[in-house]
Amino acid sequence: MGIEGQEHLWDKEVTGHRTYNDIRIFTDEQLKNYTEDELKNFKIKHDISMIEKLETGPWPSFVSDIKREALHRKKIGQDELMIPMEVCEDLLGQVELSYHEGETHWKHGGIVGVLGYGGGVIGRYSDQPQKFPAVAHFHTIRVNQPGAKFYTTDWLRSFCDLCEYRGSGITNLHGSTGDLVMLGATTEQLEPIFFDLTHDLGVDLGGSGGNLRTPSDCIGPARCEYACYDNMDLCYDLTMTFQDELHRPAFPYKFKFKFDACPNCCTAAIARSDMAYIGNWKDDIRINQAAVKAYVGGEIPRNGGAVQADWGPFNIQEEIIDNCPTKCMSWDGSKLTINNAECTRCMHCINAMPEALRVGADSGLSISFGAKAPILEGAQIALMTIPFMYAKKPYDNIKALVGKVFDWWIEEGKNRERIGETIQRVSLKTFCEVLGIPPMPQMVKEPRSNPYVFFKESEVPGGWTRDINDYRKRHPR
Ligand code: SF4
Ligand code: SF4
Repeated sequence: MGIEGQEHLWDKEVTGHRTYNDIRIFTDEQLKNYTEDELKNFKIKHDISMIEKLETGPWPSFVSDIKREALHRKKIGQDELMIPMEVCEDLLGQVELSYHEGETHWKHGGIVGVLGYGGGVIGRYSDQPQKFPAVAHFHTIRVNQPGAKFYTTDWLRSFCDLCEYRGSGITNLHGSTGDLVMLGATTEQLEPIFFDLTHDLGVDLGGSGGNLRTPSDCIGPARCEYACYDNMDLCYDLTMTFQDELHRPAFPYKFKFKFDACPNCCTAAIARSDMAYIGNWKDDIRINQAAVKAYVGGEIPRNGGAVQADWGPFNIQEEIIDNCPTKCMSWDGSKLTINNAECTRCMHCINAMPEALRVGADSGLSISFGAKAPILEGAQIALMTIPFMYAKKPYDNIKALVGKVFDWWIEEGKNRERIGETIQRVSLKTFCEVLGIPPMPQMVKEPRSNPYVFFKESEVPGGWTRDINDYRKRHPR
């Protein structure tokens, strides 16, 4: 919640902070305006017999939820709503048509947004506006979520009122992008929604298109003992520092920052972000030998008590030592030893014996580049590129690195090419030169493979001579 002058609108520590009652739109009676019996007898105006079958499965159904919202809107009445009351009914009608025909009736994209911003709104238009006029425009609005997704119920209720009043009442909390998403606004409502979000709710739009996408983070030091750096602060700081990149698309394609405060990667930064900031440590895993013995003796349950199955007595050799991927641990019956130089930070031993083992004290983060879902090339996991960096305010080291990456990629990246693909195309060696870092053994593409780093003769002490004819003798064309 970082709008200048409004940072503390929703801060409960501040006198006069905002509450739901200050800005609510609907009364309690309006919010609870139908009975379950009314819902059972409610029929929407379109035949949706095909998608209604989805309601009979074992899982909660979006069809039931949207029907509920359709009835609710009908009872609120058009006079109290800023977009067509029947938006949910037409939405279900159009989905039914798509299920019959096996193809979507949303037109792809479209340029739509709010003044001064190039992202944050994803245009969505129906190609069947005569049949479903209430979803002729059905835009998606991305809202920049707070650090670690901490909300107050007052704020969420206020947000829901706004969604109901100016949108379809349908939200997505949270999409895989990370943002809080408001679905189904008309073009006319975009500016009023933006005004209300920024002035009443103290939040900004997120990213969409070829820009920095809304940075997201795990819960980090707010609640997690594994945190190696203050990822929420770094996420907020970089969000504010790179506002221009977030709101004004200048990149070849999307670029995602994600911040995991330890290698457990709860935000999946390593698989989902172009630049993954993953908490790490330089020194040794801290060991409490007395607690190790307590695990071995069965006094402390394994995995913080999370294992419900009956695995029998804890077996440190089988469950910890043998499962260490680099075999860098040993147990002599009374003492646990770790060869920390060989530890790959997989977190297995720490997760299994959290009272006995802790992440190191000299901590910061590692940075990996280039993860993405399949688009031009197949899906790829991020490449470990910066094995360790401190993450201390004002984060000048990290910002300088980001500046180099953006400057290079804006010039070199092709249209709709993620940075991981640019690195693949021009080589990791070039990328390392751009960043000004030497090749390091920790740069890993996948275990035990050459991350395509080549040394020049001048970089190796003593050098060597190349004889192309000799090489060709062994490698005929
Ligand atoms: Fe905790 Fe690590 Fe998960 Fe963040 S990534 S919530 S620090 S376990
Ligand atoms: Fe081994 Fe993983 Fe523990 Fe490191 S974190 S010592 S690699 S089990």
